[in-house]
Amino acid sequence: MNNTTLLIIANKQTGDLLERGVLAPAGYQVTQVGEFIAAKAMIRSSSVDLVIVESELVGFRSAIELTETFPALPLILIASADERQLELNALRAGISDFLSPPLKPDAILDAVQRGLQRRERIQNWVKDRTRRNTDILRRRVNVLETLGNVGRSLTASLDLEEILKIVVDTAVEITGAEEGSLLILDEATGELYMRAARNLKDDLVSTFRIPISDTLAGEVVRTGKPVLLDEKSPQKIKTSYLVTNLLYVPLKVKDRVIGVLGVDNRQQQSSFHGQHITMVSALADYASIAIENARLFESTEVERKKLESILTRIEDGVIVVDADGQVILANRMACAMFKIPKQLKYPCPAAECFSHDQLLALIKDGHETFPYRTELEIDGESVVNAQLNTIPGVGMTITLHDITYFKELDRIKSDFVSTVSHDLRSPLTAILGYVELLERVGPINERQRNFIQRVQTSVRNITELINDLLDLGRIEAGFNERKVSLSIGNLIQFSLENLKGRLLEKELTLEVNIMPHLPNIFGDSVRLRQVIDNLLGNAIRYTPQGGKISISAKEENEQVLLCVLDNGCGIPAADRPHIFEKFYRASNVVENISGSGLGLAIVKSIVENHQGRVWVDSVEGEGSSFTVVLPIEQITTPH
Ligand code: ADP
Repeated sequence: MNNTTLLIIANKQTGDLLERGVLAPAGYQVTQVGEFIAAKAMIRSSSVDLVIVESELVGFRSAIELTETFPALPLILIASADERQLELNALRAGISDFLSPPLKPDAILDAVQRGLQRRERIQNWVKDRTRRNTDILRRRVNVLETLGNVGRSLTASLDLEEILKIVVDTAVEITGAEEGSLLILDEATGELYMRAARNLKDDLVSTFRIPISDTLAGEVVRTGKPVLLDEKSPQKIKTSYLVTNLLYVPLKVKDRVIGVLGVDNRQQQSSFHGQHITMVSALADYASIAIENARLFESTEVERKKLESILTRIEDGVIVVDADGQVILANRMACAMFKIPKQLKYPCPAAECFSHDQLLALIKDGHETFPYRTELEIDGESVVNAQLNTIPGVGMTITLHDITYFKELDRIKSDFVSTVSHDLRSPLTAILGYVELLERVGPINERQRNFIQRVQTSVRNITELINDLLDLGRIEAGFNERKVSLSIGNLIQFSLENLKGRLLEKELTLEVNIMPHLPNIFGDSVRLRQVIDNLLGNAIRYTPQGGKISISAKEENEQVLLCVLDNGCGIPAADRPHIFEKFYRASNVVENISGSGLGLAIVKSIVENHQGRVWVDSVEGEGSSFTVVLPIEQITTPH
């Protein structure tokens, strides 16, 4: 009994005759099916090696349909009569054998054997074909894998030499060539030189230089297209450098040819073909990417180094913080300012880099408006001016400028001014006293009285100036602060009461707008009264006869906003940044309006001593508005 399975599609009588009389005794496994559809399903689902079909049962058409559906399956057709034409048609249609009555056992067995042999031949042929196709596919997969590996090493390595070597080696291996080379275009000379090679002598590699005119490689550069050379007679690449087969493909960066990748044979005759062009071109693309990456990396590196050395050398401290509050850079000066001994590893959490509380708070909280400036005192030794700025996509920078020297200078100046002012006050009081006594000790004429009045006015002006200077000195030094809970509304009322005479004198319209239930602030009432007096005094002074001034106070975001507005002469834009400086007077001030230029400096110092801010908005010729912001009193509820 062998394992060969035969399927008989015939009526019962013929089937039994074939199975029992001939095929089973000969050792075949036989299955009988009396219906065409079931037979088809069986062929599909189980392994059937040969089919015997009785044409009377299924019909000639169906038998042909079977050979068409299963072309490798041998099919023997049993006809009901010996018909030459039917036999011919059956064989033409691909049916492997034809039997007609009377059915002789030998003829049946012969036909079965022939059919099985034919089936084996077909199977062997298919196997052979499949093996060959699989080999081709495997080779292609290998090439793809190799290309993939080159791609991976390209992304993994930044070493251009290594990558180009891999590219040339791979080009040689996948094309089976004898040699390979990678030529780069020297833009300065217009020549091609060799950057990497395989199986070429070192001295040839190092001295190889060819022009792009009249050379095969040059043609690739000029046209941007591959060159495939398959000549019977050897071609010259360079003097005494002859090849029999050659393939050159361009190295392109954005349509610009930057070099040539080539493989060649000097001895063997096996030629390169279209598929090699595709593969070597893929490698050339890798090489181009690597060269371009290296170029970009080099230029970014140069820029980075340049920036780094600028940052290191500048005498200002620079700290860069990312969006998560991690320090990503602190230059040499910043490290020196905050006495950081070790080299920091970035990114570094701010608290691990710095221990300065004020700086850490700045880094953590940032600020609402940028740029923001503040002063930081470091260990009671130095003072730095810190400027915060945002950098979109990066985070925030803090630039630090050492102002210890200026602070010291300022202090010396203030000390000097207050000492001098103090010493000047006594003689001035004496002058004023004696001038007042003059009239009492003897008669004086009208001219003398006029002169005495002028002396008195001048001495009073000087005394006022000296008082201002002394005040400023005390405010800056933080002396005499008596802070209590107070109402800004009340201070405004007192101040207006005092200035009523001057307002009437200039016929100014006054508007007062104080928000009801304005929260108290915690401050020095004498000093804050000085702020309001100065701002209102200026508004009156710099607004012409019949003008309009207004004062308002309201609460906003836990702060009291005090605003003094006038429609006076305004302040030129160029002067605006300086008017809070000591002794500064704007360029549009009319000569006869007296003033020392100290009022706003006093205002600024007082406001800052109360953790507040003051600023001005103005349009020259139209008016000014001074705004003071002071934090409201924080009521601490007892536990
Ligand atoms: P001064 O004694 O000169 O008024 P301040 O320090 O009070 O000194 O003011 C500085 C300068 O600011 C003034 O000289 C003037 O040029 C300008 N200024 C102040 N307030 C006003 C205002 N309300 N309108 C126009 N200019 C003003």
